[in-house]
Amino acid sequence: MLRNRPTLKVVNVEGAVRGDGEVRQMLDRARSGFTRYGFGETPHPVDLARPWSNGRWQDAQWLRGVRDLLAWVAGDRDTGPLAGVRAVAPSYSDLCDDLDRSDEIMRQGLSYPVTRGLPPPQTAEGAEAAFRWLVGWTDVPPVCEHCLGVYGDACSVLFESAAAQ
Ligand SMILES: [Zn+2]
Repeated sequence: MLRNRPTLKVVNVEGAVRGDGEVRQMLDRARSGFTRYGFGETPHPVDLARPWSNGRWQDAQWLRGVRDLLAWVAGDRDTGPLAGVRAVAPSYSDLCDDLDRSDEIMRQGLSYPVTRGLPPPQTAEGAEAAFRWLVGWTDVPPVCEHCLGVYGDACSVLFESAAAQ
């Protein structure tokens, strides 16, 4: 059976293969998962200083990255999730500009020190995963149907579909 490909492309994002409905569905998952974890909108400084010490917190921060990148693409916010690039409807190059420092951000607490003012490392990883899914570099969704992350509550569905690629 042919894979069901959406015909309505996300406006402005060159190379996007996900339709608006698909983006909205993934955005809803990220929002509901983030809210359910209950860590709140502003990361606590103690958690930020030790960003790899709590799997559930890490999952919430991953979902934040997915949520904020997709909300930007969907037109629900006008700034990018990592660098705060401002665009009402981000183009492909706006997305790349915003993700430009994601490598440094996601290695905070590992090979880079934690830097005040940067998003949590998992937010960069989630935003990157959402971007790769958006433009079709992977079919692994950035959030599973159970609205979990990929660390403490890692869903086997994501890993099974990643292994199949
Ligand atoms: Zn799941």
